[in-house]
Amino acid sequence: MRTLLFFSLPPLVMLLGCVSTPEHKEPLALGAGQPLRSLASLPSTEDIARSTKASLGLPDPQPVVEAQLKRYLRVFYHTQSLLNDFDRMLEEKARQKPSADGNVLADETYAKLISAWILSDQEKERFVQSYLTLAQWEADLRSAPAAGRELERARVEMMAKALRQSLDRAGTDRIALQGLYQKIHEEAEESVMNEPSMADSQARAIGQLAWDRQFNAKDSATAFYKKHGSELQMAAVQAAADQEVQREVANLLTAVKEEILANLMSREPQSAGQIMASSGASGNINGQGFPMGTWALTYDDGPSGNFTMKLVQDLSRNRMKATFFWLAKLAPRLQGVVNNVKAAGMDLASHSFAHRNLQSLNAGGLQQEIVNSTRILSQSYGAPPRLFRCPYGACGQAGGRIRQLIADQKMVHVFWNVDSLDWQDRNPQSVYARVKRQMAAQGRGIVLFHDIHAQSVTVTNRLLADLQKDAAAGRIRVVSVQQAIDQVNASTR
Ligand SMILES: [Zn+2]
Repeated sequence: MRTLLFFSLPPLVMLLGCVSTPEHKEPLALGAGQPLRSLASLPSTEDIARSTKASLGLPDPQPVVEAQLKRYLRVFYHTQSLLNDFDRMLEEKARQKPSADGNVLADETYAKLISAWILSDQEKERFVQSYLTLAQWEADLRSAPAAGRELERARVEMMAKALRQSLDRAGTDRIALQGLYQKIHEEAEESVMNEPSMADSQARAIGQLAWDRQFNAKDSATAFYKKHGSELQMAAVQAAADQEVQREVANLLTAVKEEILANLMSREPQSAGQIMASSGASGNINGQGFPMGTWALTYDDGPSGNFTMKLVQDLSRNRMKATFFWLAKLAPRLQGVVNNVKAAGMDLASHSFAHRNLQSLNAGGLQQEIVNSTRILSQSYGAPPRLFRCPYGACGQAGGRIRQLIADQKMVHVFWNVDSLDWQDRNPQSVYARVKRQMAAQGRGIVLFHDIHAQSVTVTNRLLADLQKDAAAGRIRVVSVQQAIDQVNASTR
């Protein structure tokens, strides 16, 4: 993988130049070849390898990239339809007046969304890997010594064409594509780590490009959704009937449902006893056990050079603390951000090494994601993290091997009871409404955001104004997760 990423970085880096000049219409300098046969079913990575190598003439990468993209978009729009179901469910529950200890996330609709979340990330991963792999194979095919710089150029052209065409998708597809380009950006950055001679800023610029093109340049996210909201709804309604994606969500659902219930129910509201590192109920919190009016805001998947500091400035201005669950593969790379966030008094916690679905890993994988990541973060944070959050909340059962490893590292597992769903929804208006509705229903708890998205910054800014007003009136308290734990422990001592 290392070699592959390294090898494919130059074309990625150079895409910028190609993409920003739309009038660049030169045909691919790859010779006349057989186009790939039409792909009736979605190709696996091996299928692509076979067909690419078989057509020794010149494979056009576009159909392959297109097939992968279509597949990703189907999952995206299906997820959007599930998000709409979830929002409807929240509305319904708000009308019914929830019972005091009811948890709005303990619902099949939410479990389906989490399944779709895992699926979306898998698709993203698959697309990016295929994309990079394709470039590698293409290079292999043409690696005659005489090819020299020609080879480089041909590869760049091919990648640029495929990427430019995908970027030029219109309307709501742009929202879906943002996630893909963010992923390509991350992979490119990882290659930079392994190849110091690459200019870091160039790789970062690839991701920036995706963000810049997320909406029409002159539209804000809110304006964009005003214009394209009904389009997105329509696409989601159609995607709801997508049986193949539906089946895949169903395949994941049983395990996810158990996970969510285990995380939400293993600590009943106001349950007695100390919260401590343990693989049982005392080592898992979701906020339902906090005193009424106590709120902890949490941010996952960072740090981000683009968004984290903006959030921290907003929090500091309001004299509030939040908890950041970060990835060990990112934190050392953004040590300046880590230092600043720490200096601002925020809580720094662990979200594994590379955001894998822990349930799918063997012992070696878990060692890397839970044990090694703790060591890396301890160094970056200057103190060992005391809190851990499994990616997707997927830790398996209480007492199981994942929870035991987390406890062995002296960390408490932290779930949530309010989910912004900001990984799917890029519209600040609807993210805000969703968070407020859940907060009203739950009364106290842990709110889940991600500090890698623009909309999460916008929503937090608006939410902090509300919280500030409520806090000034003595109705609520905003604390870090560790402060809440200390408070619960003090009251049960
Ligand atoms: Zn995450």
